[in-house]
Amino acid sequence: MSQIVGVFSCQQYDKETFQAVTSKSIQLRFFEAALNEQSVSLCDELDAVCVFVNDDLNASVISALADKGVNHIAMRCAGYNNVDTQAAKSHNIAVSRVPAYSPHSVAEHALTLMLTLNRRTHRAYNRVREGNFSLNGLMGFTLHGKTVGVVGTGHIGKAITRILAGFGCNVQCYDPYPDEEIKAIARYVPLPQLVSNSDIITLHCPLTDETRHMIDAHTIKQMKDGVMLINTSRGALIDTAAMIQGLKSRKIGYLGIDVYEQESSLFFADRSMEIIDDDVFERLLTFPNVLITGHQGFFTREAMHEIATTTLKNLSDVANDTLPEANRVV
Ligand code: NAD
Repeated sequence: MSQIVGVFSCQQYDKETFQAVTSKSIQLRFFEAALNEQSVSLCDELDAVCVFVNDDLNASVISALADKGVNHIAMRCAGYNNVDTQAAKSHNIAVSRVPAYSPHSVAEHALTLMLTLNRRTHRAYNRVREGNFSLNGLMGFTLHGKTVGVVGTGHIGKAITRILAGFGCNVQCYDPYPDEEIKAIARYVPLPQLVSNSDIITLHCPLTDETRHMIDAHTIKQMKDGVMLINTSRGALIDTAAMIQGLKSRKIGYLGIDVYEQESSLFFADRSMEIIDDDVFERLLTFPNVLITGHQGFFTREAMHEIATTTLKNLSDVANDTLPEANRVV
């Protein structure tokens, strides 16, 4: 029997990728809107919803989904901090995710942020196009031999650790569950040691109650002067107000972020003709040593293909009660 699935927060590229791999047993209905309390009314007739990082699956949305007979929330991403999993459990709604679609895509983006911030290629590009060949202000540092702290050595953290070891960096990691394979190329150290010893810190742990604002005024104070901080995980790992103070005091030498705590009202849309009301975000943009991308770490052809095929498989696996444990959240 075919199931009807509403794909929310759907961009043209999502639609094209899903249409290229879908089967007859799954009817996809595409919605540009994010799934939240306002848009849940669109879910009549749906068996499942397919959602992304900024859809809001709070208890009241989940209760409305249950009333409409939706039995599965299929996340087309790895993180699931935007789903009230207790509410899903109590309404007997399955929640699946794509645990590892292309960790290399995000790890390579974290590296892109590091290299761009360091060697200022974004500035050099504009200068050269305008006939300005001055090197003033473009001086970087040699990455080889620098100490890089990797927080979280899951799929993405392991991929970036291998890349950085290949660059000749001294990589130190922190994870409550150390990985045996990584011990061959990097050292595990306690988090405070990682924070105070690293020239570059890159965050690859999930957003949980424990990790929310793990980078706050206290942590920033422990860091090396001029440290580079990279966050491609979730915005709320960083207390943005404290980060702005860290940038103003020159403690933070470079900040590269692909995620932002309040990104749900900004990212994944063209807002170039809008007035942006978020003064904190606008303040971040004024620093010459801050580089922000709009949550594009996952955005490679290979990762998109893997996300679509795994999500569709999760949809049929939940229907057939054969979902692998690694893909199950609830
Ligand atoms: P993963 O589950 O494979 O790994 C997460 C690791 O973090 C695990 O090893 C876990 O033990 C560790 N961890 C848990 N709590 C920790 C803590 N307090 N301190 C340090 N480590 C801790 O996840 P992943 O696939 O590597 O993804 C990591 C994060 O990247 C996801 O949670 C998601 O938020 C983010 N992500 C971002 C993008 C993007 O496009 N920017 C894409 C995919 C994933």
